[in-house]
Parts: sequence; C-alpha cells; structure tokens
Amino acid sequence: EVGVLAIVGRPNVGKSTLVNRVLGRRAAVVEDTPGVTRDRVSYDAEWAGTDFKLVDTGGWETDVEGIESAIASQAQIAVELADAVVFVVDGQVGLTTTDERIVRMLRAAGKPVIVAVNKVDDQMSEYMAAEFWKLGLGEPYPISAMHGRGVGDLLDAAMSAL
Ligand code: GDP
Ligand code: MG
Repeated sequence: EVGVLAIVGRPNVGKSTLVNRVLGRRAAVVEDTPGVTRDRVSYDAEWAGTDFKLVDTGGWETDVEGIESAIASQAQIAVELADAVVFVVDGQVGLTTTDERIVRMLRAAGKPVIVAVNKVDDQMSEYMAAEFWKLGLGEPYPISAMHGRGVGDLLDAAMSAL
C-alpha cells in the first residue's frame, strides 16, 4: 500500500506546475487563471525508489466563506485521505490571510505538513522563504516548480513524512 501525498494551497501558487514537475510530464492542467483545478486528481508517482500517490487539488478558493465551507471541498477530502501534505505558498506574493486560514484547517486535520515556498526562481530570491517560518509548520522549503530548483529536497522531506 503506497503513501498518499496531497498538494494544497491557494489558487495560482503553482500546485499543478509542481505536480507536473514531480511526474516529469504535463498531466495536471496549469493555467494563469486562478481556480482551474476544481477537482481532486490523483497520479501515480515515484521518488528515489518510493512509489506514492500524488493528489493535485483545487477548491480552496479565496473568500472566508469558501474557506469555512471547505469541509465539503475536494481539497479538504484530499487532506483527510492523505498521509502527508505539501502546503504550497507563493514566495513572490508573500504570506496572505488565506494562507493562515488554510494552516488552521491543516492543523485541525493533524497530518504532517511540509511548506513549499514556490516561485523562488533563483538563489537571490531564497530570502523570500524566511517569512513563512511564521506559519509554525517548520522549515519552509524554497522551490521553483517551473524550473525545478529545490524540488528534490522538498520530495526528500515529503518521503520522510509518508
Ligand atoms: P495552481 O492554481 O496552484 O495549480 O497553479 P498553477 O500550477 O496553475 O500555476 C499558476 C501560475 O503560476 C502559472 O502561470 C504558472 O506558470 C505560474 N508558476 C508556477 N510555478 C512557478 C514558479 O516556480 N515560478 C514562477 N515564476 N511561476 C510559476
Ligand atoms: Mg491547479
């Protein structure tokens, strides 16, 4: 039985881009328009000899009402079914109140969470990850889903949590 890793976060932070990077192919739909991934989509993945299921999610939309009704959302279901969660945030945008709301839901779920600070496209931008220590979820991993930087370290951490 393989572990299940759910990818969650606000729309447009790069969840589907990360999923494609991990899979090594374009399977998840990436769009500039927020909220394109509406459902919970599961893929068979492998990293460093470990097979696992990777679940791309949408559904955690921006408004408070949407967040609070997320108990019924596919993202919430994905977290409940997961063994570990990668919480993706946008390093270029910085910490938002929506991120903080999502963290409260993740805490309630009680699953291991790894914070991926995406859109850290070069070494000069790595400082952007530091503010996410504030989330209280441990070390934030700076990554660029688009270019692949940092994704190996993130996956190593995720495999340890599965
Ligand atoms: P999702 O809504 O969280 O699934 O986000 P998507 O994967 O659809 O990506 C949203 C936008 O962010 C797209 O325009 C991506 O090309 C862009 N994006 C994703 N990852 C990166 C990254 O590492 N760096 C930069 N600069 N842009 C990214
Ligand atoms: Mg998506």
